[in-house]
Amino acid sequence: MPDLPNMASPREVALLLERFGLKPLPGRGQNFLIDGNVVQKIAAALEVKRGEAVVEVGPGLGALTQALAGLDARILALELDRGLVRLLQELMKPLAAVTVVQGDALQVDWRALCRSYFGAVTAVKLVSNLPYNISSPFMYALLKQNFPFSRAVLMFQKEVAERIVAPPGDGSYGGLSVLCQYYAAGKILFKVSSRVFWPRPGVESAVMLLTPREKALSAGEEAFFWRVVQGSFQQRRKTLLNSLIKVFSWPRETAAGLLRQALIEPSARPETLSVYEFAKLSRILYNYDRNSD
Ligand code: SAM
Repeated sequence: MPDLPNMASPREVALLLERFGLKPLPGRGQNFLIDGNVVQKIAAALEVKRGEAVVEVGPGLGALTQALAGLDARILALELDRGLVRLLQELMKPLAAVTVVQGDALQVDWRALCRSYFGAVTAVKLVSNLPYNISSPFMYALLKQNFPFSRAVLMFQKEVAERIVAPPGDGSYGGLSVLCQYYAAGKILFKVSSRVFWPRPGVESAVMLLTPREKALSAGEEAFFWRVVQGSFQQRRKTLLNSLIKVFSWPRETAAGLLRQALIEPSARPETLSVYEFAKLSRILYNYDRNSD
């Protein structure tokens, strides 16, 4: 490995940024990991094998990128901040297996990106210490595109990680929980103190493992699943019946009949439904819609 700055030292990190005329930008969630142990734990959780394709979102100053390069992975690092991209491209020049690309994780076409860098839309491993302000939209973008990950190790604000794994009936259970749990099995691996970042954020974090689940719905049914889940949790206090009427503009009796067909009480609230019930309902709604034209 070439001689890279010691990312565990806030002083070296500050000097590195200064050398490139940069400062951490809070608006971009730039809290850099300065604890080698946490970096190693995240890298180890990804279980990278030699030559595997890894996508890193928001590499920042490259603390995780360096650790992964040491495991002989082929790494595509996508960073939004042009100043950091400049810095990283210089820093990572000696590491042939690392490609740093400028782009927005919320806008990128993941399949096209993987195809152009890895030569195919192959199963990739995904890793990120995510900027807190984009966690939910990032997960939605990733899942909606069916990003082909075989394993993802992601750091979130602790409360977001708890929402992702929350069961029905829990106060944190919502649209993010249902959508994430449909696509992947999630597990909180360990909590991370705000002390291991520079600058120190105002929140605690948690590292999660996500492994994809086999999908139960067809593409058409999935489109309904997204509409039902997002539509009903946007109006959490409404009954499912009222949400369905609003989302699909169906007559009350039709919507009530479809809910009953899925063995769901029309007066039920979205937070009481399991992922399985949402999926079953979506299939019924999709079939009704297809046959009613
Ligand atoms: N991985 C580094 C680490 O652990 O020290 C930095 C993590 S920092 C919490 C988040 C990084 O994501 C920053 O480098 C930030 O510039 C970048 N970022 C913010 N929004 C982004 C977006 N929409 N797409 C890609 N990168 C983004």
